[in-house]
Amino acid sequence: MKIVEIREKTVAISSPIRNAYIDFSKMTLSLVAVITDVIRDGKPVIGYGFNSNGRYGQGTLMRERFIPRILEADSQDLVNDAGDNFDPDKIWASMFTNEKPGGHGERSVAIGTVDVAIWDAVAKIEEKPLFQLLAERYGNGKPERRVFVYAAGGYYYPGQDHSKLKDEMRSYIDRGYTVVKKKIGGASLEEDLKRIDSILSVLQDGQKLAVDANGRFDLDTAIAYSKALSQYDLFWYEEPGDPLDFELQATLRNYYDKPMATGEDLFSMQDARNLIRYGGLRPDRDWLQFDCALSYGLVEYLRTLEMLRQHGWSPSRCIPHGGHQMSLNIAAGLGLGGNESYPDLFQPYGGFPDGVKVEDGYVTLPDLPGIGFEGKRDLIEEMRKLSA
Ligand SMILES: [Mg+2]
Repeated sequence: MKIVEIREKTVAISSPIRNAYIDFSKMTLSLVAVITDVIRDGKPVIGYGFNSNGRYGQGTLMRERFIPRILEADSQDLVNDAGDNFDPDKIWASMFTNEKPGGHGERSVAIGTVDVAIWDAVAKIEEKPLFQLLAERYGNGKPERRVFVYAAGGYYYPGQDHSKLKDEMRSYIDRGYTVVKKKIGGASLEEDLKRIDSILSVLQDGQKLAVDANGRFDLDTAIAYSKALSQYDLFWYEEPGDPLDFELQATLRNYYDKPMATGEDLFSMQDARNLIRYGGLRPDRDWLQFDCALSYGLVEYLRTLEMLRQHGWSPSRCIPHGGHQMSLNIAAGLGLGGNESYPDLFQPYGGFPDGVKVEDGYVTLPDLPGIGFEGKRDLIEEMRKLSA
């Protein structure tokens, strides 16, 4: 068995929104198709993947380095010992040939995007959902198909006022979400607090708000927000300072004793380990948001989960960034605490298989082979254009 071809394409997911740091008017992502010679249901198995929003398409790196390394490898070296499926670890190692340690962000998105497409193919070859395969290989054998999701929105956009913000949040609640998220740091502290008050005025008992500063604040600003936000019962206070400023993050525990969340901009097990070692996060209340599609894929995510275990963290403290089905599968298969969701953004790439509804803050994953892209019609149509 062999990988016949790997195709990639950069596609637009532009949107007029902005957070405290960037706007998304020129945002793109890479779509990948891994075409194999393995036949299921009379057709070659094709694995698909994409990187989540925020880091742009990665085609050049894939074309120049990572795809050729896979295709030039002896196909015998890319399969498992039984010879009946591809081995994601071996394929990952082939992509990482002649790569220096450190500097992970340079290539972690490109490798991660190919890696998730490989896992889609591997699970399809076993004719089972990826969450089932993960639970059997790395978990307790029993996936939890019901996964917590929260609605990420509350971006800044032209013409937004408080009534539109409340309407937006109400629409998430009406669609079954119990936790909604709003961006902060793109306006003054005073204005952000007014917006938070507006949103809280439409939430009921059992519904919560999370806020996300997207790494915008210096230490003084982060402390000022910490003190001001302490008056609320927020679901979390996310990414206050620069993602690599672990001392800033650690300092904030002296000013904010409620849940915090961070990690979406750390792209390797080693970077995640530094956050755990030096970021002062608390395993009894804080949340980790590492996103497999941006950080070397699922092979690396398994290493990160093992690192967390060694440091006394449960996988249930992880609620990944990105709002994609790759992380939904990890959550269901390996017991993560949930997943991000963008109900109105980044379509058709985000979201759930058709017919999956959010109920009381949870979705239930259907039985679809692989990651489950075939269950989302608008998405699989885009993917099949690439592999046709
Ligand atoms: Mg964020």
